[in-house]
Amino acid sequence: MIHEILAVGPLQCNCSVIGDETTHEGMVIDPGDDIEDILALIRKHNLQIKQIVITHAHIDHVGGAMKLRALTGAPILLNQNDHALLRMLDVQAAWIGMAPPGKGEIDQSVGQSDTLKTGSLVADVIHTPGHTEGSVCLYFPVEKTLIAGDTLFAGSIGRTDLPGGSFEKIIDSLHDKVLALPDETIVIPGHGPMTTIGEERESNPFLK
Ligand SMILES: [Zn+2]
Repeated sequence: MIHEILAVGPLQCNCSVIGDETTHEGMVIDPGDDIEDILALIRKHNLQIKQIVITHAHIDHVGGAMKLRALTGAPILLNQNDHALLRMLDVQAAWIGMAPPGKGEIDQSVGQSDTLKTGSLVADVIHTPGHTEGSVCLYFPVEKTLIAGDTLFAGSIGRTDLPGGSFEKIIDSLHDKVLALPDETIVIPGHGPMTTIGEERESNPFLK
């Protein structure tokens, strides 16, 4: 699996560019900003982008999605429970001093137990409400890799004080769904360094 991770935008959201090495079909996860840099990686690996997957509708994750959709023709996949947040992208932009990205749209809602396929790559969608109502994680079972969005960070968890956030729900999502994954699972959080499920199970103070 081709997997490039780059931190984009002022909040340094971890965007993943993922591709099948044989068919060169690929997906982009959380293209929050810096679309030129993302396009450079797409070209470097000669990828045909089939899906743009958004872990949740905060602007630092979704801000560049419409631009990337226009450039690649790929649909935007996002859980419908984040629709309200998507409708207030310009308000979100003002919070962090970003240029308003315009109206966001969902081409296809994704939810619990959906399977996304790109070439030979398979990702399971895990609905993990808490940071937002529509937050999802993507688990690649063959590669044992989790794209965690803002649900789980190295040594921390996503904030729950923004609209749609719930501390009880994020704790339930983490215990019931995320910690059900094997210890050796590599976790790529929405921000900051990579970690593993085992490491977080053992040392994350929010998971005690
Ligand atoms: Zn967020």
